[in-house]
Amino acid sequence: MIISENAVVLFHYTLTDESGKELDSSTGKDPLAYMHGHKNIIPGLEKELDGKTEGDVMIVTIKAAEAYGERQDQMVQEVPRKSFQVEEMEVGMRFEAQTPNGPVSVVVTGLTDEMVSVDGNHPLAGKDLTFDVKVDTVREATEEELEHGHVHGPGGHQH
Ligand code: ZN
Repeated sequence: MIISENAVVLFHYTLTDESGKELDSSTGKDPLAYMHGHKNIIPGLEKELDGKTEGDVMIVTIKAAEAYGERQDQMVQEVPRKSFQVEEMEVGMRFEAQTPNGPVSVVVTGLTDEMVSVDGNHPLAGKDLTFDVKVDTVREATEEELEHGHVHGPGGHQH
């Protein structure tokens, strides 16, 4: 079966950044499962998988804009230290911040006694990403999966 709209795709991948550093990999785990055409994965990779079939392998570099987007300066903010209800803080800690657009995961990038710098950009924002991909399985979605717009079972949603 060819990968097209509504196909359920399971694939193995290794993700590296511009310097060749490995960021993530499905090696030794279940393949990642997604439903094609439903924005379950980054747009650039979904485009590259279109038309592929079981057993296909490819190495593709996805530009930041087609991956997790460019970094946005307005996502970096200074927040008063006292607005955090935690005793100990250090650079690198992650928090869920409540925003008008819903919860955003932010990372602490700087600290003084009074102020905390937080960055709400996705950790992979602004990065060109290279995916080494092997298509494992392509199958029809079940009716329930189509209704939900995502894959059920191993590598997908468990509910
Ligand atoms: Zn579901």
